[in-house]
Amino acid sequence: MSGNIIDGKAFAAGLRARVATEVAVFQKGAGVVPGLAVVLVGDDPASQVYVRNKGKAAQACGMTAFDHRLPAESAESDVLELITRLNSDPTVHGILVQLPLPGHLQASRVVEAIDPAKDVDGLHPVNAGRLALGQFAGPDGAIVPCTPLGSLMLLRDRLGSLTGANAVVIGRSILVGLPMARLLIAENCTVTVAHSKTRDLPDVCRGSDILVAAAGRPGLVEGDWVKPGATVIDVGINRVDTPSGSDRPYKLVGDVDFATAFEAAGAITPVPGGVGPMTVACLLANTLTAACRQNGVEAPAWLG
Ligand code: NAD
Repeated sequence: MSGNIIDGKAFAAGLRARVATEVAVFQKGAGVVPGLAVVLVGDDPASQVYVRNKGKAAQACGMTAFDHRLPAESAESDVLELITRLNSDPTVHGILVQLPLPGHLQASRVVEAIDPAKDVDGLHPVNAGRLALGQFAGPDGAIVPCTPLGSLMLLRDRLGSLTGANAVVIGRSILVGLPMARLLIAENCTVTVAHSKTRDLPDVCRGSDILVAAAGRPGLVEGDWVKPGATVIDVGINRVDTPSGSDRPYKLVGDVDFATAFEAAGAITPVPGGVGPMTVACLLANTLTAACRQNGVEAPAWLG
């Protein structure tokens, strides 16, 4: 049974180990320690956990982590001032602003203030534009958003070549769905992007050899939506309440009904333990890529 489960946790551990090795090589050659600055505005508990985990993961692979906390009521000018400072700090190679931001701040203005070379989340319009243009390689290649990059690594590891596969991506967000679709096009897949207005979503999904679910809807994809033998990547992370008397008040589930989809799929990522760990590992890979480029060093080829 476990042969059909794509173990993102194990793959991410391997990637983090590789990043650590490459950090040591880079540091020896360039005499520079890669630095990741994580900015958190406000005190959202989930964001605090994410930020802490990212900082710890960066340190564990030999990078310097800079932790910047701003109060929830910070003015936009305070946030932009910090980003300007980080942009010109030579010890900082990657900048990540934890989203979502408090309601009075406009995420696009904050993200656009980040130097695209340090935008390790890959959300700046320069990086999104390069991705859209298929400009991946070399010092001016796109920095690709971490979650779709990690999802693609899992697909490539499981399937090898993706050429000619029919892929359906559920979700068209800037963070996940759109970049995922663009990456799959670059892999020579035939890609359908489905969303909340898609007609007959189950039927659309049934045609796919690769199904990526990134809708933020718990259990949306049912087993009979999955083509027998298809590879299913469940990006969704949703908190659902547990019955009273349970150990925890909630549990995390994906966008795919795992129990039924597992029966049909050739391979499937679990939640938790699938795409989630890949996101942090790819953030580290992107940070090292950014550090290499800023120092005129060729970055490792993470996708092989
Ligand atoms: P989003 O809300 O920005 O976008 C959701 C997309 O899904 C939209 O394009 C919408 O049209 C589509 N959608 C919503 N309901 C739908 C439905 N019923 N049928 C078809 N399409 C529907 O969300 P996002 O930021 O792209 O994140 C999506 C999910 O992935 C969330 O659960 C989020 O928590 C998770 N996520 C996980 C990671 C990770 O590390 N694993 C990272 C980012 C996001």
